[in-house]
Amino acid sequence: MYDLIVVGGGLAGITATIYAVRRRLKVLLVSKTLGGKTNYRMQLPPEEPPIVLEGQEIIAGLKAELERLDFTHYKDYAVRVSRHRDGFAVYTQEEAMLLGKAVIIATGVKHQRMHVPGEEKYLMRGLGYSALRYAPHMSDRVVAIIGGGQLAVRAAAEIALTARQVYLVGAEPHALENPLGAKLKKAQNVTILENYQVLEMQGDEYARRILVSAPDGSQSEIAAGVFFVEIAVIPNSQPVVGLVDVDPSGHIRIDERGRTNVPGICAAGDVTNTYMEQILVAAGGGVTAALSAYAYLLPGL
Ligand SMILES: Cc1cc2nc3c(=O)[nH]c(=O)nc-3n(C[C@H](O)[C@H](O)[C@H](O)COP(=O)(O)OP(=O)(O)OC[C@H]3O[C@@H](n4cnc5c(N)ncnc54)[C@H](O)[C@@H]3O)c2cc1C
Repeated sequence: MYDLIVVGGGLAGITATIYAVRRRLKVLLVSKTLGGKTNYRMQLPPEEPPIVLEGQEIIAGLKAELERLDFTHYKDYAVRVSRHRDGFAVYTQEEAMLLGKAVIIATGVKHQRMHVPGEEKYLMRGLGYSALRYAPHMSDRVVAIIGGGQLAVRAAAEIALTARQVYLVGAEPHALENPLGAKLKKAQNVTILENYQVLEMQGDEYARRILVSAPDGSQSEIAAGVFFVEIAVIPNSQPVVGLVDVDPSGHIRIDERGRTNVPGICAAGDVTNTYMEQILVAAGGGVTAALSAYAYLLPGL
C-alpha cells in the first residue's frame, strides 16, 4: 500500500510527486509519459520568429529533480479510482489494482478536434489548440480562430489586441451576444464568419489556409499564418467521475487547498476547476495538492 498515488505525469503531477517525496511519503506516480502538455511545441514557418514554450525549460529542471528522488513510476493509464478499505484503489488500463491511502488526480484536459482532412498533418505546424497561451506572440500576424462558442470568442478578442487580422470562423450568433462579441463586431481587424464550417486544412510544410463552407453552401479559402481550434476542452476526469464532485463541464471541483469533496482525494492542474490552464498555475496546484494530501495522511504516519 502506497501513502500516495499521483495519477498524471504533467507539470501538476510532477510537482505533486516532488513535494510528496520530499515529505518522505511512499509515492507511486501513474502516467505513461512525463511532461504532459509542456511537450507540445508550436512550429511556425521559418521566415517568422520561432515560438518556444517557456514550459520546456521548467519541465526539464523538474524532470532532472524527479530522477534523483525515490519514488515508483508506473507507466500505465488509470481508468477508475474507488474506495478500498481505509484508502483507495486505482485500476489501470492493463488491469493492475494499485492501492494508496490518498490519491492526487492530475490528468489534464484534451482539446476537441475538428476531424477534418489535413488536421493531423498540420498539428503544431501552424495549427494549435490553445490561442490564449500564444496571445503574447501574435503581434502583427494573420490569425484564424475556429470555433462556435465562448472559448473562440474570448480567444479572438484577446488575439485581436495584437494581431494584424483575425478571422473568427464558425461563431454562433448567441456566442456574440455579450460585451466581447459586441467589441469584436466593431473591431477593424476582425472578420466574423458566422456559422461557417471548416472543410479542410491545407498548406505545404505548414498550415497556410482553410477551405470553408458558408451557411448558403458556397465554398471559399481563408489564408492565415496561424490557426487555432477553440471548440471545447474535455477534462480527463473520467477515472473519478461518480466518486468526486465535478462541475457541469467535467472539471474536478477543488477547494483552495486542492481538496475534492472526498477526504483523501486531491486534484491539481488543468483537470480541476482552477482558473486558467497555465503552466505555473498547474505547477502550484500540484504543490498545494501534495501538501494537502500530506496533512490528510499526517495523523497516520
Ligand atoms: C500547445 C500548448 C501550449 C501551451 N503553452 C503554454 C504557455 O506558453 N504558458 C502557459 O502557462 N501554459 C501553456 N499551456 C498550458 C499548460 O501547458 C498547461 O496548463 C499545463 O501543462 C497543465 O499541466 P497538467 O499537469 O495539469 O496537465 P497535462 O500537462 O495535460 O498533463 C496531464 C498528464 O496526465 C496524463 N494522463 C491523462 N489521463 C490519464 C490517466 N487516466 N491516467 C494516467 N495518466 C493520465 C497525461 O498523459 C499527461 O501526462 C499550453 C498548452 C498547450 C496544449
